[in-house]
Formats: sequence, structure tokens, C-alpha cells
Amino acid sequence: MFDTLKPQPADKILSLMQAYRADPRDTKVDLGVGVYKDASGNTPVMRAVKEAERRLVADQTTKAYVGLAGDPAFADAMIDLLLADTLPRDRIAAIATPGGTGAIRQALEMVKLAAPGATIWISDPSWPNHASIVKFLGLPMRSYRYFDADTRGVDIDGMIADLGTVAPGDVVLLHGCCHNPTGANPTADQWTRIVATLQQVQAVPLVDVAYQGFGDGLDQDAQATRAIAAAFPNLMIAASCSKNFGIYRERTGILLGITRDKDETALTQANLNFLNRQNYSFPPDHGARVVTTILTDPALRAEWEAELEDTRNTMLTLRQALADDLRRLSNDDRFDFIAHHRGMFSLLGTSADKVEVLRADHGIYMVSDSRMNIAGLNARTVPILAQAIIDAGI
Ligand code: PMP
Repeated sequence: MFDTLKPQPADKILSLMQAYRADPRDTKVDLGVGVYKDASGNTPVMRAVKEAERRLVADQTTKAYVGLAGDPAFADAMIDLLLADTLPRDRIAAIATPGGTGAIRQALEMVKLAAPGATIWISDPSWPNHASIVKFLGLPMRSYRYFDADTRGVDIDGMIADLGTVAPGDVVLLHGCCHNPTGANPTADQWTRIVATLQQVQAVPLVDVAYQGFGDGLDQDAQATRAIAAAFPNLMIAASCSKNFGIYRERTGILLGITRDKDETALTQANLNFLNRQNYSFPPDHGARVVTTILTDPALRAEWEAELEDTRNTMLTLRQALADDLRRLSNDDRFDFIAHHRGMFSLLGTSADKVEVLRADHGIYMVSDSRMNIAGLNARTVPILAQAIIDAGI
């Protein structure tokens, strides 16, 4: 049977990590995989997570199965974090999922169940797994313009023009904040235009929220998602706790289905539960319980928010330092976009050839589309990167 298999393309980011490890240069810089790193290059367990885990180990009396949708307290806590009081609770169906990836996968499986002919619209560029899962599920897919290669900001006119051609019932995948890979995000006014356009064409939004708290703050990063949630009868929100709780390997995420009313919520919930049942029965529990413990305990929550805020500010400081160094070295403001971008990533906006020059000549590792993980930098490596960008003639 296995002899009929076709080779799968190597994961670019994982092969980049291997090449980085094998590089003997002590000035090498890893801007590849999307994991937060502190100044010493570690990805620490957050203090509040450690404490929540300590409590769980001490107090948990059973490991028996939880319901198909996961712990209802996790859903309530996540709905509050994502949407605050935007919507009545009885308009929201929810399932816990294995990470944000699991939430995206289940969202697309929902489309397959509910509207198999719907086209999935994805930003160009987007997180590669979006297109890959859509393709794997055999759903029709199209892309909409998103990135302005000159300004390295959002190509809002191109985006609005493309979204204007979406057919009623098509699903439009949006990054709620901290766009991956570009780092470019619509302003509040631009979001208003995007929402109005999507309403006009009667699209169904699917909002991917993987970096809440990494951009402008927990509430600020949820503003677009809340505006979208308030504006459509039906939408889905796929959220990840991997980054903002630093629990990557615990596989913690949630999928919300927003409905018209409580009857539709019951129907949607039953279908979401069904999908969990088909794919893995019960979703992972440990990470979800850690998140719930943190979000529902005021002291732990304050501790988590403070550490998340430190993380966010570290990335903003690195952005500003890199933009400043580049401004000084180039005597030009063309790299200021790095300070304006938000989240973990910035798309440098250069060719794969230049990315290869950065790797070969300077030991700087980034994905070939020129996505840089800003959190992979520190005070020592910012000047190295800035000089390398200039030397490579970018
Ligand atoms: N969406 C986006 C845009 C992402 O960048 C990521 C993480 N790389 C995810 C979803 C899902 O992350 P995870 O499955 O690790 O929670």
C-alpha cells in the first residue's frame, strides 16, 4: 500500500531550523520558526502557566473524559477573552480543538458540511497552512490581494476590490490581528471598510486569532474580531492559545460558530461536537484547563497579562531598534514599516535570492518569502541583521 505514496514537500520552516542548528557561525541569527524567544534565546514557560499547572497537579482528582466540546468553562473564558460582551452567549457554539490549527481544520470541515460549494478566500500571502488545509479538504479556494509590496503595508484598495467579487455564502479567512506572515494590519477605518464590503457581498467570515496580545494589547487586538462578530449573522472564529499563553506543544485552541439564535446554536453545537467525534473524539484538556485556571483567577490573570505585556513590549522595542538602525545605515526611512508592523512577524519584502545571500554570507535564517520572526532578535543581533540587510543591498 505505502509504495503508492507520493513524497510530501519538506516543511520549509523545519528544514530551515535544521540548517540553522548545523551552522557553526556564532553570529548566526534564527528568524525562522514562529516561537517567542526571550533575550537569551529561550522560550520560557510563563509564570502563570507554571502556577496553574502546579495547582492542577495538586488538585486534579480525575483524568476521566470531558465532553466532546471540551470543558464548558474553557469555552466561557475564551469567549470572554475574544469577544467580551459583544454577543449574547446563546448565539455562540464552541468546541475546544488541538491548537489553532485544529480550530482552522474544524472550521473548514464545517464549511464542507454546511456549504460544500463555498469558495474559501485567503489573503495573499497567508500562513501557508491555510491554503494547504483548504487544498487537502478539496474545497474551492481563491486569494485576495493583501500586501502592498512598495509600502509593505496593507493594499487596502486591492483588498476591497477583490473582496467585492466574493459570492454570497463564500467564506473569507481573515487574520484578526498580527497578520502572519506580513505583520501588516488594517487600521480601524480600513476594518470598517472591509466589514462593510463583506456585508454587502454576504460573505461568511472565518477569523483566525493566533496572536491576541502580541500586537497592541489584549483588547485592542480583539477589536476587529469583535466588530466582525457584531456585524454578521453567521461567522466562525478560530483562536489559538499557543502563543499568548506560550503553551505551543499542549495544543490548545477553540473554534466558535456564531449563529442567528439559540436554536441555530444548538444545531451548530451538535455539528461541531460531531466533527470533534469524527476526528479525535475528545480535544486535549491540559492546556485548556491551564488557560481556564489563569483566566478565571484574578491574581493569576494579572500575572499572565503582565508577562504577556512584557513579551509584547519586547517585540515592539526590537522592531523600533531595527527600524532605527536601518534608518541610520541607509540614511532613508524605507524600513520604517518594521516599526509599524505588529505581531511576531514582518515580511521584509525581498527576493528569495536576497534571503539566500543573508543566510550564506551572514548566517541569518529567515523563510524564503523574507518573513522575519522579530522575537528571534535581541539587542546583540539587531545591529548584525541591520548591517546584513544593507550589505545584501536590500
Ligand atoms: N493561525 C496562524 C496565522 C498562525 O500563525 C498559527 C501558528 N503558527 C496558527 C493559526 C495555529 O497555531 P497552533 O496550531 O500552534 O495553535
